[in-house]
Amino acid sequence: MFQANPYAIPLFIGLIPVLSFALVAWRQRANQSARFFLLYALASAAFMFTYAMELLSARLPLMMLWLKLEYVSVLSVPVIWLLFILSYFGYDDWITRRRILLLSLVPAVHLLLVWTNEYHGLNWRTTGTQVVNSMVLFDRTYGAALYIGTVYLYLIALAATIITVISFMRAPERYRGQIALLLLPVGFIWSGNVLTLLDLTLVPKLDLTPFGYALAAIPMAWSLFHYHLFDLMPAAHRQVFKGMSDAVIVMDAQDRLIEANPAATQLLRLNSTKAIGRPLAELLPDTPELIERFRSVTETRADLHFGEGDNARAFDLNISPLRDKQGLLTGRVVVLRDVSHLKRAEALIRQYAVELEERNSQLDAFGHTIAHDLKAPLSAVIGYSDMLMMFEGEWLSPQAKDYVRNIQQSAQKMERMVTELLQFASLHDIGGVVTQVDMNQVVKAASERFKIDIERRCVRLDIPPDLPPALGHAQWLEEVFANLISNAVKYIGKDNHSPCIAVRGSRQGAFVRYEVQDNGLGIEPENQKQLFEMFARFHKGEASGLGLGLSIVLQIVKRLGGRVGVDSEPGKGSTFWFTLPAAPQPDPAPLPVAV
Ligand code: ADP
Repeated sequence: MFQANPYAIPLFIGLIPVLSFALVAWRQRANQSARFFLLYALASAAFMFTYAMELLSARLPLMMLWLKLEYVSVLSVPVIWLLFILSYFGYDDWITRRRILLLSLVPAVHLLLVWTNEYHGLNWRTTGTQVVNSMVLFDRTYGAALYIGTVYLYLIALAATIITVISFMRAPERYRGQIALLLLPVGFIWSGNVLTLLDLTLVPKLDLTPFGYALAAIPMAWSLFHYHLFDLMPAAHRQVFKGMSDAVIVMDAQDRLIEANPAATQLLRLNSTKAIGRPLAELLPDTPELIERFRSVTETRADLHFGEGDNARAFDLNISPLRDKQGLLTGRVVVLRDVSHLKRAEALIRQYAVELEERNSQLDAFGHTIAHDLKAPLSAVIGYSDMLMMFEGEWLSPQAKDYVRNIQQSAQKMERMVTELLQFASLHDIGGVVTQVDMNQVVKAASERFKIDIERRCVRLDIPPDLPPALGHAQWLEEVFANLISNAVKYIGKDNHSPCIAVRGSRQGAFVRYEVQDNGLGIEPENQKQLFEMFARFHKGEASGLGLGLSIVLQIVKRLGGRVGVDSEPGKGSTFWFTLPAAPQPDPAPLPVAV
Protein backbone atom coordinates (compact mmCIF):
# COMPACT_ATOMS: atom_id res chain seq x y z
CA MET A 1 0.00 0.00 0.00
CA PHE A 2 2.65 2.53 1.14
CA GLN A 3 6.27 2.98 0.13
CA ALA A 4 9.24 4.93 1.38
CA ASN A 5 9.80 8.02 -0.73
CA PRO A 6 12.57 10.51 0.12
CA TYR A 7 10.81 13.26 -1.85
CA ALA A 8 8.04 13.33 0.71
CA ILE A 9 10.51 14.49 3.37
CA PRO A 10 11.09 18.08 2.12
CA LEU A 11 7.36 18.43 1.68
CA PHE A 12 6.66 17.44 5.28
CA ILE A 13 9.46 19.72 6.49
CA GLY A 14 8.08 22.55 4.32
CA LEU A 15 4.75 22.16 6.08
CA ILE A 16 6.24 23.55 9.31
CA PRO A 17 6.97 27.10 8.04
CA VAL A 18 3.85 27.20 5.92
CA LEU A 19 1.65 26.27 8.89
CA SER A 20 3.50 28.80 11.07
CA PHE A 21 2.53 31.48 8.55
CA ALA A 22 -1.03 30.32 8.89
CA LEU A 23 -0.71 30.83 12.64
CA VAL A 24 0.78 34.33 12.26
CA ALA A 25 -2.00 35.26 9.85
CA TRP A 26 -4.63 33.76 12.19
CA ARG A 27 -3.46 36.07 14.97
CA GLN A 28 -4.01 39.05 12.69
CA ARG A 29 -7.23 37.77 11.17
CA ALA A 30 -9.05 41.04 11.93
CA ASN A 31 -7.32 42.28 8.81
CA GLN A 32 -8.82 41.11 5.49
CA SER A 33 -5.41 40.58 3.83
CA ALA A 34 -4.33 38.43 6.76
CA ARG A 35 -7.47 36.31 6.29
CA PHE A 36 -6.69 35.69 2.63
CA PHE A 37 -3.09 34.95 3.54
CA LEU A 38 -4.31 32.44 6.12
CA LEU A 39 -6.37 30.68 3.44
CA TYR A 40 -3.41 30.75 1.09
CA ALA A 41 -1.12 29.19 3.71
CA LEU A 42 -3.68 26.49 4.57
CA ALA A 43 -4.32 25.65 0.91
CA SER A 44 -0.56 25.46 0.25
CA ALA A 45 -0.11 23.20 3.29
CA ALA A 46 -2.94 20.96 2.05
CA PHE A 47 -1.29 20.79 -1.36
CA MET A 48 2.08 19.81 0.09
CA PHE A 49 0.55 17.29 2.47
CA THR A 50 -1.68 15.57 -0.09
CA TYR A 51 1.15 15.38 -2.58
CA ALA A 52 3.48 13.94 0.05
CA MET A 53 0.81 11.31 0.79
CA GLU A 54 0.47 10.60 -2.92
CA LEU A 55 4.23 10.04 -3.08
CA LEU A 56 4.04 7.63 -0.16
CA SER A 57 1.25 5.64 -1.83
CA ALA A 58 2.41 2.60 -3.77
CA ARG A 59 -0.87 1.66 -5.44
CA LEU A 60 -2.82 3.52 -8.10
CA PRO A 61 -6.28 3.71 -6.37
CA LEU A 62 -4.77 5.19 -3.20
CA MET A 63 -2.61 7.51 -5.27
CA MET A 64 -5.67 8.67 -7.21
CA LEU A 65 -7.53 9.36 -3.98
CA TRP A 66 -4.77 11.67 -2.68
CA LEU A 67 -4.36 13.21 -6.10
CA LYS A 68 -8.03 14.13 -6.27
CA LEU A 69 -7.85 15.68 -2.82
CA GLU A 70 -4.70 17.49 -3.92
CA TYR A 71 -6.61 19.18 -6.76
CA VAL A 72 -8.82 21.05 -4.27
CA SER A 73 -5.79 23.08 -3.19
CA VAL A 74 -4.07 23.08 -6.60
CA LEU A 75 -7.08 24.79 -8.15
CA SER A 76 -7.88 27.17 -5.30
CA VAL A 77 -4.39 28.49 -4.47
CA PRO A 78 -4.04 30.89 -7.46
CA VAL A 79 -7.49 32.39 -6.89
CA ILE A 80 -6.77 32.85 -3.18
CA TRP A 81 -3.40 34.41 -4.03
CA LEU A 82 -5.06 36.88 -6.39
CA LEU A 83 -7.56 37.84 -3.67
CA PHE A 84 -4.72 38.29 -1.19
CA ILE A 85 -2.79 40.53 -3.58
CA LEU A 86 -5.88 42.62 -4.34
CA SER A 87 -6.60 43.11 -0.68
CA TYR A 88 -2.97 43.68 0.26
CA PHE A 89 -2.60 46.51 -2.24
CA GLY A 90 -5.82 48.18 -1.21
CA TYR A 91 -8.23 47.08 -3.93
CA ASP A 92 -10.68 45.67 -1.39
CA ASP A 93 -13.63 47.36 -3.02
CA TRP A 94 -13.03 45.12 -6.00
CA ILE A 95 -13.49 41.97 -3.89
CA THR A 96 -17.17 41.11 -3.81
CA ARG A 97 -18.88 37.77 -3.19
CA ARG A 98 -20.14 37.72 -6.78
CA ARG A 99 -16.69 38.25 -8.23
CA ILE A 100 -15.18 35.55 -5.99
CA LEU A 101 -17.86 33.11 -7.22
CA LEU A 102 -17.23 34.06 -10.84
CA LEU A 103 -13.48 33.63 -10.43
CA SER A 104 -14.03 30.21 -8.86
CA LEU A 105 -16.38 28.94 -11.56
CA VAL A 106 -13.73 27.52 -13.92
CA PRO A 107 -11.71 25.86 -11.11
CA ALA A 108 -14.93 24.38 -9.70
CA VAL A 109 -15.90 22.80 -13.05
CA HIS A 110 -12.31 21.66 -13.44
CA LEU A 111 -12.39 20.01 -10.02
CA LEU A 112 -15.62 18.23 -10.92
CA LEU A 113 -13.98 16.87 -14.05
CA VAL A 114 -10.96 15.72 -12.02
CA TRP A 115 -13.16 13.85 -9.58
CA THR A 116 -15.17 12.21 -12.34
CA ASN A 117 -12.20 11.63 -14.66
CA GLU A 118 -12.70 7.84 -14.93
CA TYR A 119 -15.99 8.47 -16.77
CA HIS A 120 -14.67 10.82 -19.46
CA GLY A 121 -10.88 11.09 -19.23
CA LEU A 122 -10.96 14.83 -19.82
CA ASN A 123 -8.26 15.68 -17.28
CA TRP A 124 -6.07 12.61 -17.62
CA ARG A 125 -6.47 10.65 -20.80
CA THR A 126 -4.56 7.76 -19.29
CA THR A 127 -3.54 7.05 -15.74
CA GLY A 128 -1.12 4.47 -14.43
CA THR A 129 2.05 4.03 -12.44
CA GLN A 130 5.67 3.93 -13.36
CA VAL A 131 8.59 2.74 -11.29
CA VAL A 132 11.35 5.33 -11.19
CA ASN A 133 14.45 4.78 -9.02
CA SER A 134 12.53 1.91 -7.37
CA MET A 135 9.65 4.29 -6.42
CA VAL A 136 6.17 3.85 -7.78
CA LEU A 137 5.05 7.20 -9.21
CA PHE A 138 1.85 8.34 -10.87
CA ASP A 139 2.01 8.28 -14.64
CA ARG A 140 -0.48 10.04 -16.88
CA THR A 141 -1.20 11.66 -20.18
CA TYR A 142 -3.10 14.94 -20.02
CA GLY A 143 -6.56 15.67 -21.37
CA ALA A 144 -8.12 18.93 -22.65
CA ALA A 145 -9.60 19.96 -19.26
CA LEU A 146 -6.16 20.03 -17.72
CA TYR A 147 -4.80 22.37 -20.38
CA ILE A 148 -7.77 24.70 -20.27
CA GLY A 149 -7.81 24.74 -16.43
CA THR A 150 -4.08 25.35 -16.31
CA VAL A 151 -4.24 28.23 -18.79
CA TYR A 152 -6.98 29.76 -16.64
CA LEU A 153 -4.87 29.43 -13.49
CA TYR A 154 -1.93 30.98 -15.32
CA LEU A 155 -4.08 33.94 -16.29
CA ILE A 156 -5.14 34.39 -12.67
CA ALA A 157 -1.53 34.23 -11.52
CA LEU A 158 -0.57 36.65 -14.26
CA ALA A 159 -3.19 39.13 -13.04
CA ALA A 160 -1.84 38.86 -9.48
CA THR A 161 1.69 39.35 -10.78
CA ILE A 162 0.76 42.41 -12.85
CA ILE A 163 -0.93 44.03 -9.84
CA THR A 164 2.16 43.29 -7.74
CA VAL A 165 4.50 44.78 -10.37
CA ILE A 166 2.36 47.94 -10.76
CA SER A 167 2.18 48.36 -6.99
CA PHE A 168 5.93 47.85 -6.81
CA MET A 169 6.52 50.67 -9.27
CA ARG A 170 4.13 53.02 -7.54
CA ALA A 171 5.19 52.20 -4.01
CA PRO A 172 7.45 54.42 -1.95
CA GLU A 173 11.01 53.15 -1.77
CA ARG A 174 10.72 51.60 1.68
CA TYR A 175 7.95 49.21 0.62
CA ARG A 176 9.65 47.99 -2.49
CA GLY A 177 11.71 45.20 -0.84
CA GLN A 178 8.62 43.84 0.78
CA ILE A 179 6.65 43.91 -2.47
CA ALA A 180 9.46 42.35 -4.51
CA LEU A 181 9.44 39.40 -2.11
CA LEU A 182 5.79 38.81 -2.96
CA LEU A 183 6.81 38.16 -6.57
CA LEU A 184 9.12 35.29 -5.62
CA PRO A 185 6.50 32.75 -4.43
CA VAL A 186 4.63 33.06 -7.72
CA GLY A 187 7.91 32.65 -9.58
CA PHE A 188 8.87 29.47 -7.69
CA ILE A 189 5.46 27.89 -7.94
CA TRP A 190 4.91 28.51 -11.61
CA SER A 191 8.39 27.52 -12.69
CA GLY A 192 7.84 24.20 -10.82
CA ASN A 193 4.55 23.81 -12.62
CA VAL A 194 5.89 24.59 -16.08
CA LEU A 195 8.81 22.18 -15.66
CA THR A 196 6.39 19.45 -14.59
CA LEU A 197 3.96 19.98 -17.42
CA LEU A 198 6.78 19.94 -19.96
CA ASP A 199 8.20 16.79 -18.32
CA LEU A 200 11.50 18.58 -17.72
CA THR A 201 11.87 17.41 -14.12
CA LEU A 202 15.09 15.74 -13.00
CA VAL A 203 13.13 12.80 -11.71
CA PRO A 204 10.62 11.86 -14.35
CA LYS A 205 6.97 11.94 -13.25
CA LEU A 206 7.73 13.98 -10.15
CA ASP A 207 5.46 17.07 -9.78
CA LEU A 208 7.69 20.01 -8.85
CA THR A 209 4.86 22.46 -8.10
CA PRO A 210 4.45 21.51 -4.41
CA PHE A 211 8.21 21.84 -4.01
CA GLY A 212 7.79 25.34 -5.39
CA TYR A 213 5.44 25.99 -2.48
CA ALA A 214 8.01 24.67 -0.01
CA LEU A 215 10.64 26.98 -1.54
CA ALA A 216 8.21 29.90 -1.61
CA ALA A 217 8.08 29.64 2.17
CA ILE A 218 11.53 31.25 2.36
CA PRO A 219 10.68 34.67 0.86
CA MET A 220 7.33 34.55 2.66
CA ALA A 221 9.04 34.00 6.00
CA TRP A 222 11.34 36.92 5.28
CA SER A 223 8.40 39.12 4.32
CA LEU A 224 6.46 38.18 7.42
CA PHE A 225 9.18 38.50 9.99
CA HIS A 226 11.48 41.11 8.53
CA TYR A 227 8.90 43.49 7.12
CA HIS A 228 6.04 42.57 9.46
CA LEU A 229 3.98 41.94 6.35
CA PHE A 230 0.67 42.93 7.86
CA ASP A 231 1.92 45.78 10.00
CA LEU A 232 3.35 47.90 7.26
CA MET A 233 0.75 47.48 4.63
CA PRO A 234 0.90 49.52 1.46
CA ALA A 235 -2.88 49.00 1.46
CA ALA A 236 -3.16 50.99 4.65
CA HIS A 237 -1.24 53.82 3.03
CA ARG A 238 -3.35 53.62 -0.10
CA GLN A 239 -6.49 53.68 1.97
CA VAL A 240 -5.34 56.70 3.97
CA PHE A 241 -4.36 58.47 0.77
CA LYS A 242 -7.65 57.57 -0.88
CA GLY A 243 -9.78 58.36 2.11
CA MET A 244 -8.25 61.76 2.93
CA SER A 245 -10.66 64.64 2.77
CA ASP A 246 -7.76 66.93 1.87
CA ALA A 247 -6.95 67.03 -1.82
CA VAL A 248 -3.46 65.62 -2.36
CA ILE A 249 -1.58 65.69 -5.64
CA VAL A 250 1.93 64.50 -6.33
CA MET A 251 3.91 66.03 -9.16
CA ASP A 252 7.27 65.13 -10.64
CA ALA A 253 10.09 67.61 -11.17
CA GLN A 254 8.60 68.61 -14.55
CA ASP A 255 5.25 69.43 -12.90
CA ARG A 256 3.52 66.41 -14.39
CA LEU A 257 0.82 64.75 -12.33
CA ILE A 258 2.02 61.49 -10.77
CA GLU A 259 -0.79 60.74 -8.33
CA ALA A 260 -4.00 62.40 -7.18
CA ASN A 261 -6.35 61.15 -4.48
CA PRO A 262 -10.14 61.08 -5.04
CA ALA A 263 -10.60 64.35 -3.14
CA ALA A 264 -8.15 66.01 -5.54
CA THR A 265 -9.67 64.53 -8.71
CA GLN A 266 -13.08 65.69 -7.57
CA LEU A 267 -11.95 69.17 -6.57
CA LEU A 268 -9.87 69.80 -9.67
CA ARG A 269 -12.31 67.91 -11.91
CA LEU A 270 -9.59 65.59 -13.19
CA ASN A 271 -10.07 62.32 -14.98
CA SER A 272 -7.98 60.17 -12.67
CA THR A 273 -6.68 57.76 -15.29
CA LYS A 274 -6.14 60.14 -18.20
CA ALA A 275 -4.63 62.91 -16.10
CA ILE A 276 -1.67 60.89 -14.81
CA GLY A 277 1.54 61.89 -16.54
CA ARG A 278 0.18 65.12 -18.01
CA PRO A 279 1.54 68.57 -17.10
CA LEU A 280 -0.47 70.34 -14.44
CA ALA A 281 -0.74 73.53 -16.50
CA GLU A 282 -2.56 71.51 -19.16
CA LEU A 283 -4.87 69.86 -16.62
CA LEU A 284 -5.87 73.13 -14.94
CA PRO A 285 -6.20 75.62 -17.81
CA ASP A 286 -8.53 77.92 -15.79
CA THR A 287 -5.98 78.89 -13.19
CA PRO A 288 -2.84 79.91 -15.11
CA GLU A 289 -1.95 82.65 -12.61
CA LEU A 290 -1.94 80.12 -9.73
CA ILE A 291 0.21 77.64 -11.64
CA GLU A 292 2.58 80.51 -12.48
CA ARG A 293 2.66 81.78 -8.87
CA PHE A 294 3.70 78.41 -7.45
CA ARG A 295 5.66 77.10 -10.44
CA SER A 296 9.06 76.98 -8.80
CA VAL A 297 7.98 77.05 -5.16
CA THR A 298 9.10 73.87 -3.44
CA GLU A 299 7.91 74.61 0.05
CA THR A 300 5.20 76.98 1.19
CA ARG A 301 1.88 77.56 2.90
CA ALA A 302 -0.68 79.92 1.51
CA ASP A 303 -4.33 80.91 1.77
CA LEU A 304 -6.26 80.74 -1.48
CA HIS A 305 -9.66 82.30 -2.06
CA PHE A 306 -12.04 81.66 -4.93
CA GLY A 307 -15.50 83.01 -5.72
CA GLU A 308 -17.66 85.55 -3.97
CA GLY A 309 -20.50 85.60 -1.42
CA ASP A 310 -22.14 82.26 -0.72
CA ASN A 311 -19.99 80.56 -3.34
CA ALA A 312 -16.77 81.82 -1.77
CA ARG A 313 -14.31 79.04 -1.05
CA ALA A 314 -11.11 79.24 0.93
CA PHE A 315 -8.23 76.77 0.82
CA ASP A 316 -5.17 76.20 2.88
CA LEU A 317 -2.41 75.30 0.38
CA ASN A 318 0.62 73.37 1.48
CA ILE A 319 3.48 72.53 -0.87
CA SER A 320 6.33 70.29 0.22
CA PRO A 321 9.28 68.96 -1.77
CA LEU A 322 10.02 65.31 -2.61
CA ARG A 323 13.69 64.48 -2.72
CA ASP A 324 15.69 61.39 -3.63
CA LYS A 325 18.46 59.87 -1.53
CA GLN A 326 20.97 62.41 -2.80
CA GLY A 327 18.65 65.21 -1.80
CA LEU A 328 17.82 66.15 -5.37
CA LEU A 329 14.33 67.43 -6.02
CA THR A 330 12.22 64.72 -7.67
CA GLY A 331 8.83 66.33 -7.32
CA ARG A 332 6.37 68.10 -5.06
CA VAL A 333 3.39 67.15 -2.96
CA VAL A 334 0.54 69.64 -2.91
CA VAL A 335 -2.13 69.42 -0.24
CA LEU A 336 -5.24 71.58 -0.49
CA ARG A 337 -7.48 71.74 2.55
CA ASP A 338 -10.92 73.25 2.14
CA VAL A 339 -11.24 75.75 4.99
CA SER A 340 -14.30 77.55 3.62
CA HIS A 341 -16.49 76.43 6.53
CA LEU A 342 -13.84 77.61 9.01
CA LYS A 343 -13.60 80.99 7.34
CA ARG A 344 -17.38 81.30 7.31
CA ALA A 345 -17.48 80.40 11.01
CA GLU A 346 -14.75 82.97 11.76
CA ALA A 347 -16.69 85.69 9.93
CA LEU A 348 -19.81 84.73 11.87
CA ILE A 349 -17.95 84.90 15.18
CA ARG A 350 -16.56 88.32 14.28
CA GLN A 351 -20.06 89.50 13.46
CA TYR A 352 -21.40 88.11 16.76
CA ALA A 353 -18.59 89.83 18.65
CA VAL A 354 -19.48 93.19 17.11
CA GLU A 355 -23.17 92.65 17.90
CA LEU A 356 -22.34 91.59 21.44
CA GLU A 357 -20.17 94.65 21.94
CA GLU A 358 -22.99 96.86 20.69
CA ARG A 359 -25.54 95.19 22.95
CA ASN A 360 -23.18 95.43 25.90
CA SER A 361 -22.73 99.13 25.47
CA GLN A 362 -26.48 99.58 25.04
CA LEU A 363 -26.99 97.63 28.25
CA ASP A 364 -24.33 99.71 30.04
CA ALA A 365 -25.97 102.92 28.88
CA PHE A 366 -29.33 101.62 29.99
CA GLY A 367 -28.03 100.61 33.45
CA HIS A 368 -26.25 103.91 33.73
CA THR A 369 -29.37 105.91 32.87
CA ILE A 370 -31.58 103.96 35.28
CA ALA A 371 -29.08 104.26 38.14
CA HIS A 372 -28.55 107.91 37.36
CA ASP A 373 -32.27 108.69 37.17
CA LEU A 374 -32.88 106.85 40.44
CA LYS A 375 -30.50 109.22 42.21
CA ALA A 376 -32.71 112.31 41.92
CA PRO A 377 -35.89 110.85 43.54
CA LEU A 378 -33.69 109.13 46.09
CA SER A 379 -32.02 112.42 47.05
CA ALA A 380 -35.52 113.86 47.42
CA VAL A 381 -36.55 111.01 49.77
CA ILE A 382 -33.40 111.50 51.86
CA GLY A 383 -33.68 115.28 51.82
CA TYR A 384 -37.37 115.38 52.77
CA SER A 385 -37.03 112.75 55.48
CA ASP A 386 -34.06 114.72 56.93
CA MET A 387 -36.14 117.92 56.82
CA LEU A 388 -39.09 116.11 58.42
CA MET A 389 -36.90 115.04 61.31
CA MET A 390 -35.17 118.40 61.61
CA PHE A 391 -38.12 120.81 61.38
CA GLU A 392 -41.15 118.77 62.32
CA GLY A 393 -39.45 116.22 64.57
CA GLU A 394 -40.85 117.63 67.79
CA TRP A 395 -44.44 117.10 66.59
CA LEU A 396 -43.90 113.49 65.64
CA SER A 397 -44.84 110.64 67.94
CA PRO A 398 -41.98 108.25 68.88
CA GLN A 399 -43.55 105.62 66.60
CA ALA A 400 -43.62 108.07 63.65
CA LYS A 401 -39.97 109.05 64.34
CA ASP A 402 -39.02 105.35 64.13
CA TYR A 403 -40.72 105.08 60.75
CA VAL A 404 -38.91 108.16 59.45
CA ARG A 405 -35.56 106.79 60.67
CA ASN A 406 -36.25 103.55 58.83
CA ILE A 407 -37.03 105.52 55.69
CA GLN A 408 -33.75 107.45 56.10
CA GLN A 409 -31.65 104.29 56.58
CA SER A 410 -33.22 102.45 53.67
CA ALA A 411 -32.87 105.46 51.40
CA GLN A 412 -29.21 105.91 52.37
CA LYS A 413 -28.49 102.24 51.77
CA MET A 414 -30.16 102.49 48.40
CA GLU A 415 -28.12 105.55 47.54
CA ARG A 416 -24.89 103.71 48.37
CA MET A 417 -26.06 100.84 46.25
CA VAL A 418 -26.86 103.10 43.30
CA THR A 419 -23.50 104.86 43.64
CA GLU A 420 -21.60 101.56 43.66
CA LEU A 421 -23.60 100.16 40.76
CA LEU A 422 -22.87 103.33 38.81
CA GLN A 423 -19.19 102.91 39.54
CA PHE A 424 -19.36 99.31 38.44
CA ALA A 425 -21.09 100.14 35.18
CA SER A 426 -18.67 102.91 34.30
CA LEU A 427 -15.65 100.61 34.73
CA HIS A 428 -15.95 99.72 31.04
CA ASP A 429 -14.85 103.22 30.11
CA ILE A 430 -11.54 103.38 31.95
CA GLY A 431 -9.34 102.17 29.10
CA GLY A 432 -6.99 104.77 27.68
CA VAL A 433 -6.57 106.72 30.92
CA VAL A 434 -3.54 104.89 32.22
CA THR A 435 -0.78 107.08 33.58
CA GLN A 436 1.95 106.82 36.15
CA VAL A 437 0.26 107.03 39.55
CA ASP A 438 1.85 108.27 42.76
CA MET A 439 0.48 105.62 45.12
CA ASN A 440 1.42 107.55 48.30
CA GLN A 441 -1.12 110.24 47.46
CA VAL A 442 -3.71 107.69 46.42
CA VAL A 443 -3.47 105.71 49.68
CA LYS A 444 -3.47 108.91 51.74
CA ALA A 445 -6.70 110.09 50.08
CA ALA A 446 -8.32 106.68 50.44
CA SER A 447 -7.48 106.32 54.13
CA GLU A 448 -8.67 109.89 54.87
CA ARG A 449 -12.17 108.71 53.98
CA PHE A 450 -12.21 106.36 56.97
CA LYS A 451 -10.36 108.57 59.42
CA ILE A 452 -13.30 108.71 61.86
CA ASP A 453 -13.89 104.96 61.85
CA ILE A 454 -10.18 104.29 62.27
CA GLU A 455 -9.95 106.59 65.25
CA ARG A 456 -13.20 105.33 66.78
CA ARG A 457 -11.98 101.74 66.64
CA CYS A 458 -8.44 102.72 67.74
CA VAL A 459 -6.92 101.01 64.71
CA ARG A 460 -3.20 101.46 64.07
CA LEU A 461 -2.75 102.16 60.36
CA ASP A 462 0.80 101.82 58.98
CA ILE A 463 1.43 103.37 55.59
CA PRO A 464 5.08 103.58 54.46
CA PRO A 465 6.07 106.94 52.98
CA ASP A 466 7.65 105.47 49.85
CA LEU A 467 5.13 103.26 48.08
CA PRO A 468 6.41 102.53 44.56
CA PRO A 469 4.48 104.14 41.71
CA ALA A 470 2.58 102.03 39.16
CA LEU A 471 0.76 102.45 35.88
CA GLY A 472 -2.98 102.95 36.37
CA HIS A 473 -5.71 105.45 36.91
CA ALA A 474 -5.46 107.43 40.19
CA GLN A 475 -9.17 107.92 40.76
CA TRP A 476 -9.92 104.22 40.34
CA LEU A 477 -6.96 103.10 42.37
CA GLU A 478 -8.21 105.31 45.19
CA GLU A 479 -11.45 103.27 44.99
CA VAL A 480 -9.44 100.05 45.21
CA PHE A 481 -7.54 101.16 48.31
CA ALA A 482 -10.69 102.67 49.81
CA ASN A 483 -12.51 99.36 49.45
CA LEU A 484 -9.64 97.34 50.88
CA ILE A 485 -8.98 99.71 53.82
CA SER A 486 -12.68 100.07 54.61
CA ASN A 487 -13.06 96.25 54.62
CA ALA A 488 -9.99 95.90 56.83
CA VAL A 489 -11.57 98.33 59.30
CA LYS A 490 -15.06 96.78 59.02
CA TYR A 491 -13.84 93.23 59.60
CA ILE A 492 -11.11 93.98 62.15
CA GLY A 493 -13.17 92.26 64.85
CA LYS A 494 -15.01 93.88 67.75
CA ASP A 495 -12.93 92.14 70.43
CA ASN A 496 -9.63 92.94 68.77
CA HIS A 497 -7.40 94.51 71.46
CA SER A 498 -4.61 95.70 69.20
CA PRO A 499 -6.21 96.22 65.78
CA CYS A 500 -3.68 97.06 63.08
CA ILE A 501 -3.74 97.53 59.37
CA ALA A 502 -0.61 97.77 57.25
CA VAL A 503 -0.31 98.93 53.65
CA ARG A 504 2.75 97.75 51.70
CA GLY A 505 4.09 98.01 48.17
CA SER A 506 7.04 96.33 46.49
CA ARG A 507 8.31 96.08 42.98
CA GLN A 508 8.37 92.53 41.51
CA GLY A 509 9.88 92.46 38.04
CA ALA A 510 7.62 94.26 35.62
CA PHE A 511 4.87 94.59 38.24
CA VAL A 512 4.29 96.27 41.58
CA ARG A 513 2.52 94.32 44.30
CA TYR A 514 0.43 96.22 46.86
CA GLU A 515 -0.95 94.69 50.03
CA VAL A 516 -3.47 95.70 52.68
CA GLN A 517 -2.97 93.50 55.70
CA ASP A 518 -5.16 93.34 58.81
CA ASN A 519 -5.18 91.27 61.96
CA GLY A 520 -8.97 90.94 61.90
CA LEU A 521 -11.53 88.18 61.51
CA GLY A 522 -9.96 86.45 58.50
CA ILE A 523 -11.91 84.42 55.96
CA GLU A 524 -12.73 80.69 55.86
CA PRO A 525 -10.74 78.94 53.09
CA GLU A 526 -13.92 77.68 51.35
CA ASN A 527 -15.21 81.28 51.09
CA GLN A 528 -12.01 82.78 49.75
CA LYS A 529 -12.70 81.78 46.14
CA GLN A 530 -16.06 83.57 46.03
CA LEU A 531 -14.94 86.77 47.71
CA PHE A 532 -14.53 88.67 44.47
CA GLU A 533 -17.91 87.70 43.05
CA MET A 534 -20.71 90.29 43.04
CA PHE A 535 -22.89 90.30 46.17
CA ALA A 536 -20.75 87.73 48.00
CA ARG A 537 -20.87 88.52 51.74
CA PHE A 538 -19.74 86.41 54.67
CA HIS A 539 -19.55 88.36 57.92
CA LYS A 540 -23.08 89.66 57.71
CA GLY A 541 -23.54 90.41 61.42
CA GLU A 542 -20.26 92.29 61.60
CA ALA A 543 -20.84 95.28 59.35
CA SER A 544 -23.25 96.55 56.75
CA GLY A 545 -22.35 96.25 53.10
CA LEU A 546 -23.59 95.27 49.67
CA GLY A 547 -21.02 92.68 48.66
CA LEU A 548 -19.93 94.80 45.70
CA GLY A 549 -16.67 96.30 46.99
CA LEU A 550 -14.31 93.44 46.15
CA SER A 551 -15.91 92.82 42.74
CA ILE A 552 -15.23 96.48 41.93
CA VAL A 553 -11.61 95.98 43.08
CA LEU A 554 -11.28 92.95 40.83
CA GLN A 555 -12.76 94.71 37.80
CA ILE A 556 -10.54 97.77 38.19
CA VAL A 557 -7.33 95.81 38.69
CA LYS A 558 -8.12 93.46 35.81
CA ARG A 559 -8.81 96.39 33.53
CA LEU A 560 -5.47 97.91 34.48
CA GLY A 561 -3.65 94.68 33.59
CA GLY A 562 -3.04 93.33 37.10
CA ARG A 563 -4.14 90.45 39.31
CA VAL A 564 -5.92 90.29 42.66
CA GLY A 565 -5.79 87.79 45.50
CA VAL A 566 -6.08 87.16 49.19
CA ASP A 567 -4.17 85.21 51.83
CA SER A 568 -6.19 84.76 54.94
CA GLU A 569 -6.48 82.65 58.04
CA PRO A 570 -9.70 82.71 60.09
CA GLY A 571 -9.11 84.40 63.45
CA LYS A 572 -5.68 85.72 62.45
CA GLY A 573 -6.33 88.21 59.70
CA SER A 574 -6.20 88.73 55.95
CA THR A 575 -3.82 90.15 53.41
CA PHE A 576 -5.53 91.41 50.25
CA TRP A 577 -3.05 92.01 47.45
CA PHE A 578 -3.11 93.21 43.87
CA THR A 579 -0.53 93.83 41.20
CA LEU A 580 -0.21 96.55 38.58
CA PRO A 581 2.24 97.12 35.75
CA ALA A 582 5.24 98.98 37.18
CA ALA A 583 6.02 102.52 36.08
CA PRO A 584 9.22 102.72 34.00
CA GLN A 585 12.19 103.41 36.22
CA PRO A 586 13.95 106.75 35.76
CA ASP A 587 17.28 106.59 33.94
CA PRO A 588 20.23 106.63 36.34
CA ALA A 589 21.87 110.07 36.63
CA PRO A 590 24.70 110.49 34.10
CA LEU A 591 28.17 110.00 35.54
CA PRO A 592 30.25 113.21 35.76
CA VAL A 593 32.67 113.37 32.89
CA ALA A 594 36.24 114.42 33.67
CA VAL A 595 37.45 117.19 31.41
P1 ADP B 1 -19.01 94.14 51.67
O1 ADP B 1 -17.82 94.55 52.45
O2 ADP B 1 -19.83 95.26 51.21
O3 ADP B 1 -19.76 93.04 52.26
P2 ADP B 1 -17.04 93.27 49.79
O4 ADP B 1 -17.16 92.79 48.39
O5 ADP B 1 -16.14 94.38 50.05
O6 ADP B 1 -18.47 93.54 50.28
O7 ADP B 1 -16.57 92.02 50.64
C1 ADP B 1 -17.21 90.80 50.52
C2 ADP B 1 -17.07 89.96 51.76
O8 ADP B 1 -15.70 89.63 51.97
C3 ADP B 1 -17.42 90.69 53.01
O9 ADP B 1 -18.80 90.59 53.29
C4 ADP B 1 -16.61 89.96 54.08
O10 ADP B 1 -17.29 88.80 54.52
C5 ADP B 1 -15.38 89.52 53.32
N1 ADP B 1 -14.24 90.42 53.55
C6 ADP B 1 -13.82 91.42 52.77
N2 ADP B 1 -12.71 91.98 53.28
C7 ADP B 1 -12.43 91.35 54.44
C8 ADP B 1 -11.40 91.43 55.44
N3 ADP B 1 -10.42 92.36 55.37
N4 ADP B 1 -11.44 90.57 56.47
C9 ADP B 1 -12.39 89.63 56.55
N5 ADP B 1 -13.39 89.49 55.65
C10 ADP B 1 -13.42 90.32 54.60
